[in-house]
Amino acid sequence: MKDQLKLLLEVQRHDARIQELAGMQKVWPQKLEALNGDLKKVEAMLAKERGQLEETESWRRKQEAEQKDEEAALLKAKQKSGMVKNTKEMMANERELQATRKMAQDREEEVKKLVGAVDTAKKSITQHEADFETLKKHVSDETAAAQAKVVEVAGQIAEERKLRDVAAKRVEPSAMKKYSTIKMRRGLALVPVKNGTCGGCNMNIPPQLYNTIQRGNSIEMCGNCNRIIYWDKLLEETDGRPTEKPEPTSS
Ligand SMILES: [Zn+2]
Repeated sequence: MKDQLKLLLEVQRHDARIQELAGMQKVWPQKLEALNGDLKKVEAMLAKERGQLEETESWRRKQEAEQKDEEAALLKAKQKSGMVKNTKEMMANERELQATRKMAQDREEEVKKLVGAVDTAKKSITQHEADFETLKKHVSDETAAAQAKVVEVAGQIAEERKLRDVAAKRVEPSAMKKYSTIKMRRGLALVPVKNGTCGGCNMNIPPQLYNTIQRGNSIEMCGNCNRIIYWDKLLEETDGRPTEKPEPTSS
C-alpha cells in the first residue's frame, strides 16, 4: 500500500507539471494578442495622422492660392492709386489698399503657420513610422519565439503524460478512481499529514486515523476535506532525501 501511495504521489506530481505546462501554453497567445493590439493602435494612429496631414496640406494650398489672388489685388490697388482724380477717390483707394494689405498680411501669417504645422506633422509621422516598424519587428520576433515555445512545451507535456500513465497503470484501479474523483473536485487529491495535521485543510487528524496512516497499510481519507492522506514520514525516500511534498492548499 505504501508503494501505491508513492505511485499516486508520482501521478500527482506529473499532473501538477502537466497543468503548469498547459498554463504556460495559454500565456503566449494572450501576450501575442496584446502585442498585436498595440500594433493595430499605432497603425490606426498613423493613419489618423496621415489623414490630418493631408487635410492641413490641402488647406495650405487653398490659402496659398488666396494669397496669390490678394497679391494680385494689392498690385492692382497700387496701380490704381496713380490714377486717382481727386482727394475723395484717393482716400477711398487708400482705404482699399490698407484693407487689402491687411488681408494679405493675415494670409501670409496663416500660410506660415500652416507650413510649420505640416512640418511638425511630417516629423511626427516619421517618428511614429519608425516606432511602428520597431514594434512590428518585435511582434514578429515574439510570434516566432512563442511558436517555438508552444511546440517545445507540447513535447514536454507529452513526455509528462507518458510518465504519468506508466505510474497510473501501476496504481490499483479503485485507488486511481478515488484519486481522479478528488482531483476533479478539489484540485489536489493527495496530501501529507504532518504532525497530525492534514496538509489539505489544516485540521487535526483523529488519533486512531493517525495511527492507521502511520502504518500505511490502507488508503485513508481526511474526514474533513475528503482528500487521500498519507503520513509525511512514511514516504520519505530510503536514501534520506525526503519525498517532494505538494503545496498544502486550504480548502
Ligand atoms: Zn483534510
